[in-house]
Formats: sequence, structure tokens, C-alpha cells
Amino acid sequence: MIEDELKLAAYLHKGLTEEGFVVDVAHNGVDGLHLAMECDYDLLVLDAMLPGIDGLGVLAALRQSKQTPVLMLTARVRVEDRVKGLQSGADDYLVKPFAFSELVARIQVLLRRGHPRSAAGEAVLGLADLEVDLLRRKATRAGRRLDLTAKEFNLLVLLLRRQGEVLSRTEIAEQVWDMNFDSATNVIDVAIRRLRAKLDAPFERTLLHTVRGMGYALEARDP
Ligand code: CA
Repeated sequence: MIEDELKLAAYLHKGLTEEGFVVDVAHNGVDGLHLAMECDYDLLVLDAMLPGIDGLGVLAALRQSKQTPVLMLTARVRVEDRVKGLQSGADDYLVKPFAFSELVARIQVLLRRGHPRSAAGEAVLGLADLEVDLLRRKATRAGRRLDLTAKEFNLLVLLLRRQGEVLSRTEIAEQVWDMNFDSATNVIDVAIRRLRAKLDAPFERTLLHTVRGMGYALEARDP
């Protein structure tokens, strides 16, 4: 999210985090563009009026190399401004002031349309008898609903998207907690333990594996 109004940025950050999103915030166009270029985000929420480079400038620079979906926020309501934003490659537009629930709905629509990196129509991920519905944020194993917290769900999705790969704690910390490894290590181990209790303990086949000294992997190994 690139938003220079500090109070609004803090409010949106808190709300989106509670919705289960992992959000990085930049307060100006230069920092925001740098982050957007460096990292592979699923979506960018971009304010139009920013100090330094404005929203359209950020968008134009971003679009030279990245197709990250962009939801523009603007105080401007003139039709020509909206058209300009959409022509410069914004995927959607939301006029301030807006209801938080509308922002979440628009974000979900854009994410549903799919990210260039993910397979088309990737709304349900699966591994063996595990099924994860990304839109309904629902996970089941052998048809039984897993009662996961938002973080546990995000952790499971990360592992599932990269199934078969060993993910280090450092990477998990960055992707799911938005923290660096040093402050998050215990948090991750606890979350993995809780996820494992819900995901694997009630079932015969183990999906979540610890790779000693390296990290964790989600994999359906032969029993
Ligand atoms: Ca602004």
C-alpha cells in the first residue's frame, strides 16, 4: 500500500491485517515504487496524490516491467481523471472517502482475477486429501473443515503454493508475518506446531514435514 496520509494508512494497514492480508506500507511514491519493483506483491493499493512521484507516475514506472494488479485510491472524482488512471494501467479505482468493506471487496475481486505468476483460475489449492479454497478462506482435509486462524491459514497457503519445497523460517517470517527472522522465530515454531496439530494430528498421513536445520515443507510422501 502506498498512501501518504498517515492516519488512513495506519487504519487500512490494521484493517487489512485483521482480514488476513500481509501488508507493507510506503508513505511516498519513491519508497513505494522501490518496494513494488523489488518485491512480488499480489496487489498494490496506490493513492493517486502522493509527494515525490504521484500515483500515476508510480503506475507508469511500474508498468514498464510489472503487471502487479493496482487498485488506485483517489480524492478526485472527475471522470477524465478516472479514465486517465485506467488508461495508465490501473486495474480498478476507488474514490475517497470509501467504506473499508468496499476496499476489501475490490481487493478480493482483483485477486480473484488472478496474478500473472499464479496458474489460471487458481481459486482452490490441493494436496492429497487437503483442499484450500482461497476465496472462501476455507481449508478441509478428507472433507473435514480445519478450524484455522488467519495466520495459520496464510501459512498453510504459502506452504501449499510451494509444495515440495523447503521453506526457511526466514522466508516464512517475511511472507506471513512481515517480520524478520530474529523477532519471529519463536512465533513461527509455535504457529507451525498449532497448524500441525490441526492439519496432521487427526489424520493418518502427515503432510507438514520438518527438515532439520532448514525449515518446513508441505508434501504428500508415501507412507
Ligand atoms: Ca494522498
